[in-house]
Amino acid sequence: MYRPIRALIDCTALQHNLSVVRSHTRQARIMAVVKADAYGHGLLRTTQALNTADGFAVLELEAAIQLREAGFNQPVLLLEGFFSAEELEAIDHYQLSTVIHSHEQLSLLLAHRKTGKPDIYLKINTGMNRLGFRPEEESYVFNRIRQWRSDTSITLMTHFSCADDALEADQVNQQLDQFAALHDVKENNLPQTLANSAAILRYPGTHADWVRPGIVLYGASPLPDKTGIELGLRPVMTLTSQIIAVQQLDPSDRVGYGGQFIANQPMRIGVVAAGYADGYPRHAPTGTPVLVNGQRTRLVGRISMDMLTVDLNGISEAGVGSPVTLWGEGLPVEEVAKSAQTISYELLTALSPRVPSISI
Ligand code: PLP
Repeated sequence: MYRPIRALIDCTALQHNLSVVRSHTRQARIMAVVKADAYGHGLLRTTQALNTADGFAVLELEAAIQLREAGFNQPVLLLEGFFSAEELEAIDHYQLSTVIHSHEQLSLLLAHRKTGKPDIYLKINTGMNRLGFRPEEESYVFNRIRQWRSDTSITLMTHFSCADDALEADQVNQQLDQFAALHDVKENNLPQTLANSAAILRYPGTHADWVRPGIVLYGASPLPDKTGIELGLRPVMTLTSQIIAVQQLDPSDRVGYGGQFIANQPMRIGVVAAGYADGYPRHAPTGTPVLVNGQRTRLVGRISMDMLTVDLNGISEAGVGSPVTLWGEGLPVEEVAKSAQTISYELLTALSPRVPSISI
């Protein structure tokens, strides 16, 4: 009845992956990162499956409010903080936690009425050079917040730039040293949060009070040299579709826009209902792996807006209606991402809203 592309979301895999994170972290509390619609997996179904997480981190205020309205009582952290006084009102109203990373945010906070008491995550730039106060500003900012309200909870936070790269241990250690040297780490022993997925796996010394896993919860690996499966994770999203047409090619026939793929032998080509408007990466080249009838084959020719084409030679009993897996169970999303010269994060979060997404 419907165009056959589907994103199947395996909620038991989410729970499994959370337990893998717990087995690595033990003491640290887990702030599950569910920004960008839970990395494309659907916010509410993901948080329901991850309900035993100790907190959730999002970027979008709307998402944080949705979690509160759905009845989640855990801390909900806004990873980029707020942009206006109105948002601070909403933060109070919904009892959200917020990052503060800039002097602009600090000014808004200090001008905010003193009755609100959001939990603050004071973000320190230890070398990522994206968001955060400089380490030498930390105690000044901390004191200003303390003067504003003496009883608000303050957690110190930083983010690693290279925790995924085995050759960059020096950078991670430098960031760690900068963080450990912060005045209020040494003097006040404030709660701390540093680790994303890669740091959770590679650097147990970074776990501190809260870890912030994202990609591992969705079953993909943050490490370039290992797949999620190799790390004991299970893929959560499987992007499936079907073959909707078959073409019989003679040698030298060309396929798709630009005619870039040229058959060098008689070939059967399967046309799959999945294109870049669904979130499949347009830059995936000929040779990118695809499963048809559970058998591995390759993409051929350019990706169109709504379709892509695959080599059916050697795939037994493939024809119109045959199931196709574009990534997920049986085909790690990392492998497809690598072939398309991107990362699993981009593929998962770029899934188009037009693709029906179904919990399994
Ligand atoms: N913490 C912060 C501040 C982030 O921005 C992100 C994601 O980009 C994460 C944690 C989770 O990262 P990952 O998905 O690599 O675990």
